[in-house]
Amino acid sequence: MPGEFDLIRRYFAHATESREDVPLGIGDDCALLKVPSDRWLAVSCDTLVAGRHFLPGVDPETLGHKALAVNLSDLAAMGAEPAWASLCLTLPEADEAWLAAFMRGFSALAARHGVQLVGGDTTRGPLSISVTIQGLADPAHTLRRDAARPGDLVYVSGTLGDAGLALLAQQGLYTRAGSLPFLRQRLDQPEPRVELGLAAAPLAHAAIDLSDGLGGDLAHVCTASGVGAMLYLDRLPLSPAVRDYVDETGDWSLPLSAGDDYELLLTVPGERQAAFEAAMREQAVPVTWVGMIESGAGVRAQYPDGQIDEGVAKGHDHFAG
Ligand code: ADP
Ligand code: MG
Repeated sequence: MPGEFDLIRRYFAHATESREDVPLGIGDDCALLKVPSDRWLAVSCDTLVAGRHFLPGVDPETLGHKALAVNLSDLAAMGAEPAWASLCLTLPEADEAWLAAFMRGFSALAARHGVQLVGGDTTRGPLSISVTIQGLADPAHTLRRDAARPGDLVYVSGTLGDAGLALLAQQGLYTRAGSLPFLRQRLDQPEPRVELGLAAAPLAHAAIDLSDGLGGDLAHVCTASGVGAMLYLDRLPLSPAVRDYVDETGDWSLPLSAGDDYELLLTVPGERQAAFEAAMREQAVPVTWVGMIESGAGVRAQYPDGQIDEGVAKGHDHFAG
């Protein structure tokens, strides 16, 4: 059985490329990082617990990707540029095949975003993965939740509800085979919208990443900003699979309140609409106008038939009920 220090040497110490702003990485009591004096440090942490956020038997490589992806998504939603990550792993046993695959997924995504793994902790216990990400933000262009203003246009990236439909498929409640690989990909390997967040940062007012569902996450923005919002459901960007699901069932809860999509929601002042839409056309995914920020409070939604829902369903809350 390899010991803790063998694991660190084999799987973590050289998992990512070195950055020039890291004078000291893994191996000492702390990492030492050079933070430019004209930038702000953006820091976020996310934990994935077996049985709660993923099934224990899930492919470790996709899990390594997702553990970092959900953290990168938080930086994207702040308009920050990724730099450094720490990885705290609690493992039931030192399963080297599992670790090697997990780190393949983690390192491949880290490489694409220039992230260096600079530290962490490795302990034994029920499987749990915690990543802390650190990035750099331009103080003049951060995308805060409390910065939405009445009259802002509301945009979302990509498509909504795919991860939620993948979960329904996992439970046997959706069985259209042709869509399954696409949906699984959207659930297991979300693509953090880092470039998009950086491109939007100088133009948008507020942003949030959609981890808990559109209605709930937009409600967070509204509460923080002291505003309300209206969503136009006929505008929501849906993949063909989710479009079929909504057409067949009439159930809008997938695109409105299912979580785990990791798309970005952005609010943009009207006078910057043209510049914003031009900047977004350069991005890898479409960015779609879905609603408006209003004065008042709460999130309303207009259904395609014109009916208005005065209080859109809340997002996921681990401690609710
Ligand atoms: P300490 O006793 O000072 O807490 P550890 O023995 O836990 O240090 O870790 C030794 C070094 O290995 C530290 O630099 C730590 O950041 C790093 N490390 C431990 N586990 C991980 C991990 N899962 N990923 C990345 N670095 C790790
Ligand atoms: Mg330690």
